[in-house]
Amino acid sequence: GYGDDALKINAYTETRQICEKFNKMLGRMKVLDDSRQEFVSNVSHELKTPLTSMKVLADSINSMEDAPVELYQEFMSDIGNEVDRETKIINDLLSLVKMDKSAGDLNITNVNINELLEQILKRLKPIAEKQNIELVLESFRPVSADVDEVKITLAFTNLIENAVKYNRPDGWVHVSLNADHQYFYLKVEDCGIGIPEESLEHIYERFYRVDKSHSREIGGTGLGLAITRSAVLMHRGAIKVFSTVGEGTIFNVRIPLNYIS
Ligand code: ADP
Repeated sequence: GYGDDALKINAYTETRQICEKFNKMLGRMKVLDDSRQEFVSNVSHELKTPLTSMKVLADSINSMEDAPVELYQEFMSDIGNEVDRETKIINDLLSLVKMDKSAGDLNITNVNINELLEQILKRLKPIAEKQNIELVLESFRPVSADVDEVKITLAFTNLIENAVKYNRPDGWVHVSLNADHQYFYLKVEDCGIGIPEESLEHIYERFYRVDKSHSREIGGTGLGLAITRSAVLMHRGAIKVFSTVGEGTIFNVRIPLNYIS
């Protein structure tokens, strides 16, 4: 009868809706899976590069008969550098994995941000001095905030370290800290090489580097800004970048003073 038809049409519409939902879900899963596959393939590639260099270095020492001791030393020191590089990539990956966990894993305490920044600058001073780069901190007011100290330290260190790394000899890095009743604001400004307009949207991607060889030379892994962004977002903060090639770069970070779970 008429009722049966209505039921059939209902069942049909419902089935179609479920199918559509399911298809959408599959599509989303595929996107996730693709980016995971890309990540794994990037990781493998990055981890292989130092290993390949080590193998080449070790093989060529082995194949040499009566090589002078100085040459051995040089090769061994090169191998040591590759081991350092591999270690840095693995450490950055471990930091990133920690950041990828849920925000529930944040270890929130009340932290003096002025002191935290002073300590970071103290640690980076020797690196800056090597290139005669002036590293200055300007604190406009005392700031204490509820943050995960380890993650925020990592995030801010990456930004300030980049400002030093991608600078010019005799340049400067200006770090400033300010706050209102709701947020604190970190600004990291440098007079370095800058970032091309078309790269700006990619710099937070894992392993992305504007200039791979330059970044590798100065010890970059392409993971720093991905780590920074994750840490900032976990705190429900925001990060913005402004840059002009050949003039410099500004990173602005905003973090809530009181952690909102
Ligand atoms: P890396 O380990 O290579 O420094 P990051 O994720 O920290 O990786 O940064 C990604 C890329 O963004 C860098 O390789 C560099 O090309 C660019 N970059 C980051 N910070 C700056 C900066 N302050 N000035 C110029 N370029 C920068």
